[in-house]
Amino acid sequence: MKSVTLKKSLAPKKKFGQNFLTSPAVAEKIVNAAELKATDTVLEIGPGKGVLTSLMTDRCRKVWAVEIDARLAEALSIMFGQSVKIKIVNQDILQYALDEIIEESRSSFKVVANLPYNITVPILGKLIGCRQHIASIIVMVQKEMADRLSAKPGSKDYGSLSIYVQYYLNVEKLFNVSPGSFFPKPKITSSVIKLTPREIPPVILEDESDFFDFVRLCFSQRRKMLRSVLKQHNEWGGGISNRVSAEMDLTRRAETLNLNEFVKLYNFLKAEK
Ligand code: SAM
Repeated sequence: MKSVTLKKSLAPKKKFGQNFLTSPAVAEKIVNAAELKATDTVLEIGPGKGVLTSLMTDRCRKVWAVEIDARLAEALSIMFGQSVKIKIVNQDILQYALDEIIEESRSSFKVVANLPYNITVPILGKLIGCRQHIASIIVMVQKEMADRLSAKPGSKDYGSLSIYVQYYLNVEKLFNVSPGSFFPKPKITSSVIKLTPREIPPVILEDESDFFDFVRLCFSQRRKMLRSVLKQHNEWGGGISNRVSAEMDLTRRAETLNLNEFVKLYNFLKAEK
């Protein structure tokens, strides 16, 4: 790697969620959490000025750094020169097909990133879509998002996103990072989390997407009893028979149901339709 540091004058672009990590100690802690081995391939989403990238290229086989901002991608190309340890891709991660990295990593790859916070959910959706190729995901997200992703039934943060993500991934909160560790300084606290794809889902669903639509609908009015929420939608309300009412307490609110209870309710209503 050439000893070039990226110009401080590259003004951060808000639309790309550019809050650059400035704390070497936090960068080290994030990369340590990935437990990189010399044989690992890493996908880094949004390398920015390369604070995590430069630590990782020394510790793994190859880093695929996908950066949407052409100014940063170009600067990173100068910084890393022709190094075989890195592939810099100037693209939107949401549009980028991961086939090449999947093929090159042979078994599976790791994901490490300080994510652009405004597109955290679509990025997680994309990673979930190819989870069979992913060994682990270490990402920095807004603390509020980390709380939602890891929330358990009964908590104020628990919702359809918690159920969707936890169905596919084990979610572990690692540590918080204060606004002072970034430039520009964000208004919120961040958290680093570890997501590990589950080998088998906790329950088998025939139509996952239909089930998650159902869960979203149940949470659409989270203060209301399930019975009144479902009654507003003929598609589901029509399935509320005496049998279902006897088996499930529909005076409960969505936020009190765990995954298995949602599956039970969904299957009952489907059967009665
Ligand atoms: N990794 C750097 C760090 O820790 O300082 C930068 C993190 S910054 C929070 C998010 C990075 O993601 C920025 O470099 C931004 O340009 C990039 N980014 C934003 N949207 C993106 C997208 N759709 N695809 C790829 N990169 C994106």
